[in-house]
Amino acid sequence: MSIRQNVLEKIGGVKLSMDKLPKKASSYFGENTFSISVIKKHISKKTFAAFRHWLDEGKIISMKEADEMAKAMKDWAIAKGATYYTHWFQPMTGLTAEKHDSFISPNGEGRAIEKFSGSMLIQGEPDASSFPSGGIRTTFEARGYTAWDPSSPAFIIECELGKTLCIPSIFISYHGEALDKKLPLLRSDEAINKAVMGLLKLFGHKDIKKVFSDCGAEQEYFLIDKRFYRMRQDLLMTERTLIGASSPKGQQLEDQYFGSIKERVINYMNDVSIEAYKLGIPLMTRHNEVAPHQFEFAPVFEDSNIAADHNQLLMDIIKKIALKHNLVCLLHEKPFAGINGSGKHINWSLSDNKKNNLFNHGNTPEDNLRFLVLFIAVIRAVYKHADLLNASIASAGNEHRLGANEAPPAIMSVFIGDQLTKVLDTIEKGKKAEFSKKDIVNLGIGKLPIFNKDVVDRNRTSPFAFTGNKFEFRAVGSSQNISTPIMVINTIVAESVDYIADRIKKESGHKNFNLKVMSVLKKIVKETKPIRFEGDNYSKSWIKEARQRGLLNEPSTPNALKALIKEENIALFEKYGVLTKGELVSRYNIWMDMYCKKLEIEANTLREMVDSNVVPAGFDYQGLLAGNLTDIVDLRENADLKIKEEVFDDLKDHLIDVTDKIYYVRKHTRRMEKLLKKANSLRVGERADLFFEELKPLMEHIRKHVDELECVVADEHWDLPKYREMLFVQ
Ligand code: ADP
Ligand code: MG
Repeated sequence: MSIRQNVLEKIGGVKLSMDKLPKKASSYFGENTFSISVIKKHISKKTFAAFRHWLDEGKIISMKEADEMAKAMKDWAIAKGATYYTHWFQPMTGLTAEKHDSFISPNGEGRAIEKFSGSMLIQGEPDASSFPSGGIRTTFEARGYTAWDPSSPAFIIECELGKTLCIPSIFISYHGEALDKKLPLLRSDEAINKAVMGLLKLFGHKDIKKVFSDCGAEQEYFLIDKRFYRMRQDLLMTERTLIGASSPKGQQLEDQYFGSIKERVINYMNDVSIEAYKLGIPLMTRHNEVAPHQFEFAPVFEDSNIAADHNQLLMDIIKKIALKHNLVCLLHEKPFAGINGSGKHINWSLSDNKKNNLFNHGNTPEDNLRFLVLFIAVIRAVYKHADLLNASIASAGNEHRLGANEAPPAIMSVFIGDQLTKVLDTIEKGKKAEFSKKDIVNLGIGKLPIFNKDVVDRNRTSPFAFTGNKFEFRAVGSSQNISTPIMVINTIVAESVDYIADRIKKESGHKNFNLKVMSVLKKIVKETKPIRFEGDNYSKSWIKEARQRGLLNEPSTPNALKALIKEENIALFEKYGVLTKGELVSRYNIWMDMYCKKLEIEANTLREMVDSNVVPAGFDYQGLLAGNLTDIVDLRENADLKIKEEVFDDLKDHLIDVTDKIYYVRKHTRRMEKLLKKANSLRVGERADLFFEELKPLMEHIRKHVDELECVVADEHWDLPKYREMLFVQ
């Protein structure tokens, strides 16, 4: 029996104790967060008012007030058992980072007191030299500072033997440049607020004080048994299978999506919900996804900044809890070839300070006109800045989902549904449109309610779809920090809103305001028409049509990232105060470097697997065949065993076939070695191109031969867990 077959016997969940039956979720929701309601209880009315002022209008609190906040936060955290605190931030690695400091301060007499001041709350100084800065900092000025982001509540992270107070923070250089993903997101929130407020003013709105971007991120992931994970170097090192023959059954029967959730997984999901609820993460839905062993969690949407923090925390939680259940949660965008990959649909909308969604159709023709301006502004933003959207989601992992081997392609387009298409067509033709009438569809089946068509009409293949009262950006990768794509959406929509507002102001053909607006919209609807696509984005014909329409289709990450350093894009980000040229160049450098490193790790892992697993297994089997053949020859010659020539030939062919397969696997692996050596002498840009153009296809080629070998080598000689096992054994 092989090691693998041995392990198969042991697959299964952990024993769960029933002594801790979960309480009502509402009784512990948010118990580990220093939420507004907790803050209110712990500080004076005056300081609370100053704090709210800071959140709503950006007027920073005084040091005295900060001291009061710090004391309240410390008392609350210590009462809950926290011994350490940390500024919790999101450096460019894509992960979160924390450097823990103890609350303890020695009193000089051999004892200590717990101390935490306003200045300690507001600012920290982790040694930043090991975080990627993409050239922003030279080592002699390696200092980085964390600064408290009061808009996201502090929280307590628990582990078996201790608790830590985490303070959401931004991370900046000595000169104030953003070294993280949160600060640009916060800046972009300011940009969209300013632009939309300007537009609302034009429409005569006086009662709206502030505009926010909202986000609900649907998180997809795979779960596999921990024991399988440990036996595969590729999963351990890269979170994806670099080799592995497809199992005969994948997702073709479509029996997984929304199917009943297996008990082992439901237990896991319950455990995740408890942890998430304690941290105030409002998980709402959970279900099976399309691929076997693929699942999804989605929260109720929140302010983008908080949604981004919560998504980072959720990714930590779903990984951590999985281990407790003898599972491993894979967040890679394409852990398994031949079946669906994992994305993270970002649902995005805008709301005002009274929580009104600005993408709701209004009740009056005027409201609907305002809705249309914003709606068309988003379409225009995608049309004009598809390159930036593409760059915001480009990574080594997501590249496998978008455009490379399997659908969907890396083409940005917008889906808006029949009803709104009809509306835009009417605008384009310049006919008088009646926007106040809701397009209600009656199914004509007595017992079913009539429904508004937009709520139901969906196109699951569109990368950017309008879904009722929000846009859904589906091309985002499952492992990604959502701050970057939201930051890009906020910025490009801000630009688009400003552009339209400006055009309206300059429109001279009409006196009537509504007619001015309609006239501007008419031109923009016409101009941006190529970006609208209602068909199947996964079809071959779309690729051709998109090319004819002049749309961008950029499957290569290194090429997609170039959008970040295009002159007009640098000007755009600088104009909106979201990123400076230096910050953009640093991001470009970091992401290119990351791309190369990830591929290098993959290639080296593949080489090791080929040399230490695949080829030895092949040789074992080859030995078996050769021994068998020798025996037969021997029997034929010495015992006059009468074997038909064609049967004998078949035995020989089989041996030759296996020998050939091993040969090709080795030959291409040696080629890969040479390619890696060559890459070493290249600069990052050239290396990334070489990896995309040559290394990746070569790795695919090696995989093809390895997978063929896997299918013929005796099962007991194959030690790597197989697809059918990882995806179907419960
Ligand atoms: P779907 O059918 O696309 O799965 P859901 O209504 O289930 O749509 O919503 C999916 C996600 O979208 C959830 O996280 C939800 O909170 C979020 N969402 C709903 N409305 C908004 C909105 N106005 N802005 C941002 N996100 C939203
Ligand atoms: Mg959705």
